[in-house]
Amino acid sequence: MNFELLALESLPCGCVAGDFRAWPMDVEIISIEAKGPHCTLQGHAIGETLDMGALADTEAIEAAGLEDLLADREADELMS
Ligand SMILES: [Zn+2]
Repeated sequence: MNFELLALESLPCGCVAGDFRAWPMDVEIISIEAKGPHCTLQGHAIGETLDMGALADTEAIEAAGLEDLLADREADELMS
């Protein structure tokens, strides 16, 4: 399986999340790429998958602090 990096985003907690597309399954995966030095959120560990597949679960997205990342990506899609 190959991973294409779509975006990197700093989260409010200080972690950096990566937004990947996994080929050939064509699913999106959001994972923690770097742990923020002051982040206390459980589940934020390097390599930890935050979300996978359809990104329709807005509560989970908000809980993970990913609104900005998704907003950025939507803006990118509008421009492309
Ligand atoms: Zn974090």
